[in-house]
Amino acid sequence: MGRGSREIININDNVTAWEAAGKIPDEVYRQCADAGLILPLAAGNRIPREWANFPIAAGIKAEEWDGFHDFVLWDELFRGAPSISSAFIGLTLVRTGGEGAPGLSMILIPRLPGISTRKIEIGADGLSATTYITFEDVKVPAEYLIGEESQGFRYTMSNFNHERLWIAFQAIRGARICLEDSMIWCQKREAFDKKLIDMPVVRHKFGHMARQIESLQAWTEQIVFELDNLSHARGSKLLGGVTALLKVQAGIVSKYIADESVKLMGGLGLTKTGQGARIEAFSRGVITLIVPGGSEDVLLDLGVREAVKLGKKAKANL
Ligand SMILES: Cc1cc2nc3c(=O)[nH]c(=O)nc-3n(C[C@H](O)[C@H](O)[C@H](O)COP(=O)(O)OP(=O)(O)OC[C@H]3O[C@@H](n4cnc5c(N)ncnc54)[C@H](O)[C@@H]3O)c2cc1C
Repeated sequence: MGRGSREIININDNVTAWEAAGKIPDEVYRQCADAGLILPLAAGNRIPREWANFPIAAGIKAEEWDGFHDFVLWDELFRGAPSISSAFIGLTLVRTGGEGAPGLSMILIPRLPGISTRKIEIGADGLSATTYITFEDVKVPAEYLIGEESQGFRYTMSNFNHERLWIAFQAIRGARICLEDSMIWCQKREAFDKKLIDMPVVRHKFGHMARQIESLQAWTEQIVFELDNLSHARGSKLLGGVTALLKVQAGIVSKYIADESVKLMGGLGLTKTGQGARIEAFSRGVITLIVPGGSEDVLLDLGVREAVKLGKKAKANL
């Protein structure tokens, strides 16, 4: 599946040109949809049967699709082009009822009269889909409602779990890329009559990087496995807080790996071309793994609040 997804959108050859243009060409979204990449990105670890007639990556059947396929898909997209892997999906939460969460519904808003958009540049890369949107008396047909009315808040919260999970998927691949490129470099580069890898202090850096990446991967796979073996509702309830903490860990590990691998590359770690290019890009974009999807402080708090809540419920049921 991985090779297929990379070849289909021919990412590696094009991403530099797209970044320079500040835009992914519209036809790429169509190609991605035809190649079965967009549906699974939106669906997460389960693809509803009623969506089975849309293309799914690598010809995998809807009923066979699981969290590990999801993991591999995000991993491969991030390996090919970190900056495009988050650019696909946009839904809107709107107030269709009274106050508070029950008054919110989720809708897909197409380009309709009264909508204007302006791209917001962010520091990390030129391909982010972050956009300032203005709505002036926009009338959205009811058929664009996602799911049931008044359930928007619940859908959003549940979607956050998947978003946090795929941020962890991306963090792991990004960190592995940094480890790989800095390891190759340290086995080549000689300083003070020695290869960098022959210095204990350099090997220590790799040891610290590797132990953190492997732990992050193991924890991520554990959560993916658990979610695959729980109902969606139960998985969201039991693992929402844990997934928030995983996302925090993914950000902390990514930042650490980015900093260490930039240092190991020396000046090359700051150049947008050449052997340090992938590390430079990851270190520039690492903050997009830390703030979006819920920033670190907020998610640490959420993770503990959820654990306390589950603990109280479990005690009450004794
Ligand atoms: C590039 C990018 C893309 C994004 N894409 C999307 C998207 O597609 N869809 C979407 O819905 N959103 C998106 N976001 C929004 C993103 O999820 C939020 O910016 C992020 O969750 C932080 O929320 P905030 O900006 O409201 O910051 P705030 O909530 O104002 O938080 C700012 C800081 O205040 C402190 N803080 C706030 N609350 C607490 C608390 N309870 N406990 C402790 N400290 C706290 C923390 O230090 C926190 O980092 C995107 C953001 C960026 C930058």
